[in-house]
Amino acid sequence: MNDMLKRAVEIMKFKRVDFGDIRIIDEQQQNINVKNTEITELKNDTTLGFGVRVLYSGGWGFASSNKMTLPEVERVVELAIDIAKASSNLVNSKVRLSKEESYTDVWKTPCLIDPFSVSVEKKLETLFSVNNILLKNPKIKTANSKMSFIKTHKYYASTENSFIEQVLIYSGAGYNAVAIGDDVQVRSYPGAHAFMLSMGYEYVDSLKLVENAERVREEAIALLTAPLCPSDDRDLIIYGDQLALQIHESCGHASELDRVLGYEESYAGSSFLTTDKLGKFRYGSDIVNLVADTTLPGGLATCGYDDDGVKAQRWHIVKNGILSGYMTNREFCNRIGDKKSMGANRADSYHSIPIIRITNLGLMPGEWEYDDIIKSTKKGVILENNRSWSIDQKRLNFQFGCEIGWLIENGKIKKMVKNPVYQGITHKFWGSCDAIANEKYWKLYGVSNCGKGQPGQIFKMTHASSPARFKNVKIFGR
Ligand SMILES: [Zn+2]
Repeated sequence: MNDMLKRAVEIMKFKRVDFGDIRIIDEQQQNINVKNTEITELKNDTTLGFGVRVLYSGGWGFASSNKMTLPEVERVVELAIDIAKASSNLVNSKVRLSKEESYTDVWKTPCLIDPFSVSVEKKLETLFSVNNILLKNPKIKTANSKMSFIKTHKYYASTENSFIEQVLIYSGAGYNAVAIGDDVQVRSYPGAHAFMLSMGYEYVDSLKLVENAERVREEAIALLTAPLCPSDDRDLIIYGDQLALQIHESCGHASELDRVLGYEESYAGSSFLTTDKLGKFRYGSDIVNLVADTTLPGGLATCGYDDDGVKAQRWHIVKNGILSGYMTNREFCNRIGDKKSMGANRADSYHSIPIIRITNLGLMPGEWEYDDIIKSTKKGVILENNRSWSIDQKRLNFQFGCEIGWLIENGKIKKMVKNPVYQGITHKFWGSCDAIANEKYWKLYGVSNCGKGQPGQIFKMTHASSPARFKNVKIFGR
């Protein structure tokens, strides 16, 4: 690996490129899926390859290969240089990267139990135990449980003399129960989307998958006969991966600087958080602090360095309700007057070019006890876990459906309701946030399927939050 890194950098320096880097990715992935009483997927994948990025006369070139030989490195580097030369003739404005420090370092995900050291038999035993509990009531027609593990060994070297080795470990486990009666209801655990974090197998143990299965089953069945969520304006308390998705869609994507500048417009839309709003725009109420953090222990976007070779950092996107920052990389940070990148540039594989991605983004905890939020709610609803989502291309008007709701009347939880949906406009919604539970309730929810870019890339990040209350939200039963 070292010889390949050195050879690539040597050629790029000799050819006097503006900037060049090489990333070697050696990745191991295991997916296990069990549907009812049958294994539907049991797959071990390995991926090995390298990608070379070259900036020449202000134009980008990128090429990659999975043939791990020195002659192939030479060929791919020359190809990336040729592409960069060609594209430099076409660019409207020359790309200029921010000046950053160089690093020689090794960084590893803190991990107690290597997930690949745990036997497939033990993993299957847990998944079958879960499904057996879920299927104990015949109203549950489908039980799906799964585990997924990834170990990414990443080697990075640049013409600026960075030489970084990282070992990133991800572990995920979760399940859902599908109940069928007059309609179809789903309950999932630990979330509808959230199931993975950047930890070892200790994360799977901490989830208490088997211990939660009975509750999940009973809630799915109870939803079949629960009344429909009423349609009116009421206070909304959300938590779990619903709040995570709310953060992801309405703040995460909206604060990706490339999207803000129009780079994603034809594919996934732009953003209403235009750069003239930085430092001025009221995004939420005073208690809303949304913090990006690639140092967050357990976060799926947590790393030592991003794919620009920039060190992991923590910064505000929204501070005391005001738009205060963006997800940036070395190419675009100067567009908002920043001399340094925040380090949000990621590629999902050796054969993808890094682009700005949402990092870990958390809603900072407030000061409330969760019970006090409920007690002080006259007319409200608690919603958990996402079931459907829709947001316009500027990330302004949204509608989310959830798995389950509980109505609150005069400070007391009254009853379960089904098919709850809520609507809002991003800054008005966050502006109505009047209570956030304290750090005791602060949890991490992983998103492992975020799509962006052309050609499409899938990336992972985590959104942490405590339950939060939003005033007078338009709610309805679908
Ligand atoms: Zn996304």
